[in-house]
Amino acid sequence: MRKSLVAGNWKMHGSVQSVERLCAGIVSGAGSLGDVDVLVCPPSVFIPSALQLMAGSAVAVGGQTVSEQAQGAYTGEIAADMLKGIGCQYVIVGHSERRALYAETNSVVADKFAAAEAVGLTPILCVGETLEQRDQGETLKVVGEQLQAVIHLVGVDKVAAAVVAYEPVWAIGTGVTATPEQAQEVHAAIRQQLTEAGNGTRILYGGSVKSSNAAEIFAQPDIDGALVGGASLDADEFLKICQQA
Ligand code: PEP
Repeated sequence: MRKSLVAGNWKMHGSVQSVERLCAGIVSGAGSLGDVDVLVCPPSVFIPSALQLMAGSAVAVGGQTVSEQAQGAYTGEIAADMLKGIGCQYVIVGHSERRALYAETNSVVADKFAAAEAVGLTPILCVGETLEQRDQGETLKVVGEQLQAVIHLVGVDKVAAAVVAYEPVWAIGTGVTATPEQAQEVHAAIRQQLTEAGNGTRILYGGSVKSSNAAEIFAQPDIDGALVGGASLDADEFLKICQQA
């Protein structure tokens, strides 16, 4: 039985004050959630305060990206063992915004995955197709290649031990959600690609998840939670999504 995970990706939002309010709001409701893992991924400068504010609660804290390098002259980058060292448990790798805006190729994403995994962080590997790719019938091919690049580098067992997030690019921040059937089709293909080891892999859906659409998404057999962007910036809304997982 896979335990659901709901992860909030705060992207580049927030201030000292709003992060305090958001953490306090999530902590106040987290105790009464059922059997679900909850994670927040704040902007990196707010990770230490989020860790402090979440301390003693069941809410985990993670990073939004990580360097593929272990250490050195890489101005502005953050190494995996730095995230691990301050108490992060997870890190998102390969988010479509990183792929599109910061030119992260499948090979770079695989290197980042490997760097995170090597220090004991659990990578959340994001995969997903653009609308154009979906319209051309390439969804499973594109997602399959994104996944395969990481499997090729680290082996299927390490990918299966991580978390995979299927995030159709056209559904991120647009208010348009994949139908539960569209999402399930891709989740099932991902699980199949992970072979038998994938039976225990948590595969999250991401793309305009809200409390009003979470239940039907979570009802799909291969969907084990969500990676939530916009709706994770409101504690009540985020907690409602967690409750449904
Ligand atoms: C995301 O950024 O990973 C995401 C899914 O965003 P949103 O929920 O806002 O679509």
